[in-house]
Order: sequence, then structure tokens, then C-alpha cells
Amino acid sequence: MAQKIIIAIDGYSSCGKSTLAKALATKLAYVFIDTGAMYRAIALYFLRNNVSFTDESSIAGALQQIKLNFKYNAETLKSDMYLNDENVEQEIREMAVSSKVSEVAALVLVRDFAVAQQQAMGVQKGIVMDGRDIGTVVFPSAALKIFVTADPKIRAQRRFLELQSTQPQITLEEVTQNLQHRDLIDSTREHSPLRQAEDARVLDNSHISREEQFEMALTWAKEIIGE
Ligand code: C5P
Repeated sequence: MAQKIIIAIDGYSSCGKSTLAKALATKLAYVFIDTGAMYRAIALYFLRNNVSFTDESSIAGALQQIKLNFKYNAETLKSDMYLNDENVEQEIREMAVSSKVSEVAALVLVRDFAVAQQQAMGVQKGIVMDGRDIGTVVFPSAALKIFVTADPKIRAQRRFLELQSTQPQITLEEVTQNLQHRDLIDSTREHSPLRQAEDARVLDNSHISREEQFEMALTWAKEIIGE
């Protein structure tokens, strides 16, 4: 039987990481984990409960009240994010959360909380995890690390089109500003900043199709798994 590995996919906001991670996980019959959804659910809890981002004891207290789970949705064929047993998949994608999530994700207590759960999910291997620090911090010895990049204008346009069905009032300008804002915080924060792991393979998908991106990553995975 082929060996099971951990595949770590990192990169800037809206560069197609989740699409690639999901497709790879489906093809390899691996578990897909969207770590951004976890930070979004934590941010949603903080916003709903007016948790101060600067008061460590409030942050620690709030984290004790948070239970995160992924549950498979047979209608959409995807996993939904659950916060304390409530399906928040839709709400965590809204601009109210997107505009604050990077500030919440920069907090060291929040990172420790999320990373511990992510590492536990990888014990059995056979996972594809996407985020910002998966190849550098969560699984520094992952067998395959992919750093996905794309032209910022192309990323904003793709994200804008994606959000239009659920948030028709959104503008391209708003989406562009949100991506720039998150990229800046994510790459300059003190704890686990977004950066390319030295042994990551870079995949720039600005001018290639989803299928081409998928084939490239699958070839890398198969080289390692030995299929
Ligand atoms: O992946 P997504 O864009 O949904 O992630 C939302 C936010 O969560 C990012 O902008 C980033 O601030 C944070 N994040 C992170 N580390 C991860 C995944 C996401 O800091 N591993």
C-alpha cells in the first residue's frame, strides 16, 4: 500500500490554495483541512462576544469556550466549519469576519490554540492542510510543501467573482483592499508570519488553469508517495 504523507499548502490570501488542497485530498482520499476556516471561526466568536484583542486574560477565557469541528456536508460535498456545534461556514466568509480575522490570527494565544489542534489532526498523516504557516510551523517536516502564489490583481478578481453569488453587494475595490490588508498583517506579524519554507515547491498559478495546477501538484505528490 502507498505510504500516507502530510501535504502542506501555504500562500497569500485567495491564491487558490483551498481549491488545490481540496482537489488533491479528493484524488488521494486524504482529509482536507482549511486552517483559515478555524481562524475565521475564532474571529467570529471574538466579534460576537466583544472579546478585546489586547486583553490576554479575556482572550484565554474566550478560547476555553471555543470548540471547533469540521463536518462533511453531503449537499455541497465539502466540509463545513462548526463553532460550538453551529454551522458557521457561510458567516465566516463575510466581510465582517474577513476584515478582522488577520488581527485575531496574529495573537499568539490564538495561534497556539489553533496549531495544537492542527498538529493533532495530522497524527495519522494522509492529510492536505492549507494555510499560512503549515510548512514552516505546523508541519515543518511535511513530506510535500507547496507555496502557491498568483498576481495580486488576478487573486482579487478571482475572489470577487467567487463572493458575488453569496455577497452580491461586494465591490472589487473592497475585495482588493481586504486582500492587501490581510497579506500585510499575515506576512509582517511577529508570530509565525507567512513565508515560504526553504524546502517548499513554488507554484505560480497566475497564468495556468486549475487543472494544470492540480496536475503539477499531483505529480509532485505521486513522486513522493511512490505511486
Ligand atoms: O485562508 P483564509 O484566507 O480563509 O484565512 C483567513 C485568515 O486566517 C488569513 O488572512 C490569515 O490571517 C489567517 N490564517 C493564518 N494562518 C493559517 C491560516 C489562516 O494566520 N494557517
